[in-house]
Parts: sequence; C-alpha cells; structure tokens
Amino acid sequence: MTTQATPAGDVRDVIIVGSGPAGYTAAIYTARADLKPLMIAGSVTAGGELMNTTDVENFPGFPDGIMGPDLMENFGKQAERFGTEVMYDDVASLSLDGAVKTVTLADGQEFKARSIIISTGSAYRELGVDGEKRLVGHGVSSCATCDGFFFKGQEIAVIGGGDSAMEEAIFLTKFAESVTVVHRRDTLRASKIMQERALNHPKIKFVWNSEVASVEGDAKVTGVTLNNLVTGEKSKLAVTGVFVAIGNDPRVDLVKDSLQLTAAGTIAVDGRTSKTSIPGVFAAGDVIDPTYRQAITASGSGCVAALDVEHYLSELDS
Ligand code: NAP
Repeated sequence: MTTQATPAGDVRDVIIVGSGPAGYTAAIYTARADLKPLMIAGSVTAGGELMNTTDVENFPGFPDGIMGPDLMENFGKQAERFGTEVMYDDVASLSLDGAVKTVTLADGQEFKARSIIISTGSAYRELGVDGEKRLVGHGVSSCATCDGFFFKGQEIAVIGGGDSAMEEAIFLTKFAESVTVVHRRDTLRASKIMQERALNHPKIKFVWNSEVASVEGDAKVTGVTLNNLVTGEKSKLAVTGVFVAIGNDPRVDLVKDSLQLTAAGTIAVDGRTSKTSIPGVFAAGDVIDPTYRQAITASGSGCVAALDVEHYLSELDS
C-alpha cells in the first residue's frame, strides 16, 4: 500500500480516481501497458461498494462465490503486481482542461497527468424524509453488512424492491427477529433468484404499495410512518432499525461543473467509448452507467477506459 506516491511534480501518463471494479480493472490494464498508473483510492470509500457486500455469486471465475472485500483485495493485489501506485486519500478537486490535468488531494498535494480516468462509482440514495438524516447511526443505516450485528433480536424494516434491498433483507435475517420489506409498488424489481429467496424466507414479511413518510424516534429509531400509495392510508410500523436500499446515485460532485452529464446524472461518454466531453478525460463504471451497474460490467468498462487511454496517449506521442 502506497501512501506517498512518487514525485508529485512529474507529469504522469494516467491517474485513476476511484477504486471499485472499474478503477482497478483500468489500473491492471494501464499498469500492464507500462503507463505506471497512480490510483487515488479514497480514504473511507476505498474498494467501492463491494466492500459492503457479502457473497458475490455472479462474478465469473468464482464458482463457489467470493466475499466482496476479498474480491476487492484480489483486484488490488493484481493491480499492484504490475506497478500501480495506490494512495488511500480523497480528491478535493480536479482541473481537467488543457493537455495536463491536475488532481488536488484533500491534504493539498497535487498530482499531474496527461490523462485521467474517473471511476468514482455511486453513492447510496437517501429517502429524503423527516427523521432519516437525524437518526443515521441511531437505527437508520444503508449497510447491513456494516451495521446488521447491532440489531440482534430486533424488528427491522428494509426499504426498496431491488436486488440491494433483497440482499440486505436476507442478510439481516441472521440477526433480526423479523425483517419487513417496504416497497412502493406490488412487484419487485430484484432478479428472480433474489426475489424467490426473499419471498420464501420465513423471517421476511412484505408491505406493498407503501412509501416511508417519516422515520420516528428521538434518540433512536422507534418506527416508521408509512403511506399506502393505493389507499392513501397512513400507518405505523414499529421497528428499531431502518435499512434504506433504494439504489444509488452516480458520484459526480468532482466533475459536475466541468464534464457533460446525462439526464440520468451520469457522466456522458461518447457511444461505447469512455471518452468524456473533455479530451484526455475518460470515465468508467457506475459513474457512467444508469442501467446495468454490475461488478462485471464496471470491470469491462474500466478495461475500455484503459484501452482508450492507451490510444489517446499513443496518438499524442505519434
Ligand atoms: P435498483 O435496482 O435501482 O432498485 C432500487 C429500488 O428502490 C427499486 O425497487 C425502487 O422502486 C426503489 N426506490 C427507488 N427510489 C425510491 C424512493 N425514493 N422511495 C422508495 N423506493 C425507492 O437499485 P439496487 O437494488 O441498489 O440495485 C442496483 C444495481 O445493482 C442493479 O442492477 C442490481 O441488479 C445490482 N445489484 C445486484 C446484486 C446481486 O446480483 N446480488 C446485489 C445488489 C445490487 P421501483 O422498483 O418502484 O423503481
């Protein structure tokens, strides 16, 4: 693990911002192409979303599945084996115009490169209701693998109808007395296999066609107020834990004023490439993908970005 990368004053070939499957795949490819990538991995978000996941059963090559953090450790080892430098720091700002781009870290250090790959992934979406923010850490969570242990023997609500919500609900049954999934429609968005596991689980109940109007509790969560979207009826659900799993939004804070974005809020790229609206700036993974958002598609996208960087640099040098 590198905490201080080699000379900050030099102009590098490529800097990768973000360290999920997209960033690490880009690192493996650019490192093998001898571009000596520097990865800014993030201080608390290093490894990306898979760090908060338990079994990954659908990443090819692991017939028995692999734990998310183990998969990311493997990615890291493979990238570093070919010479990727990894800094576990946060980027404060990016200056992307011109031939040389500048990456400024939170501690003020600056790194320069001829190309940048943005692979900042996505962040948990919030419900935006009363009580939610105030009670984060006091019963409200977005990460069952991080916080599930604290809810032994308790009644928990999971909000959402996608794969994340089913995964959280199933995982939480290890600890909780019961888990109630609250979904705003009467059909789930999750994949068939995850739906079946959740629907058939004896500890999981469902409340359909309902949204959370507010999270209740003073010092700790005591329940949620639900709004039935079909009947308009309001009801209370007594729970001590609320796990919000309603999807993610692309992390574009660093680039939203400099790069063109799509209507979905992702970084706009040119067709199937990773080319953004600024030459020399490439993007990969969940931050460009409003649709598929799988570890394997993010990896593929990171590979595309690395190859695009190689072509871009070789054209500059020719
Ligand atoms: P998602 O598929 O976008 O599902 C989000 C869910 O939250 C949907 O059911 C949605 O309802 C609901 N929702 C969104 N905004 C809401 C709001 N404001 N209030 C109440 N409910 C709201 O997100 P995800 O489950 O995080 O999955 C993201 C991607 O990662 C997917 O492609 C998924 O397949 C993948 N993933 C895969 C696995 C796995 O393979 N094991 C695990 C986790 C995630 P509607 O259905 O009404 O839109």
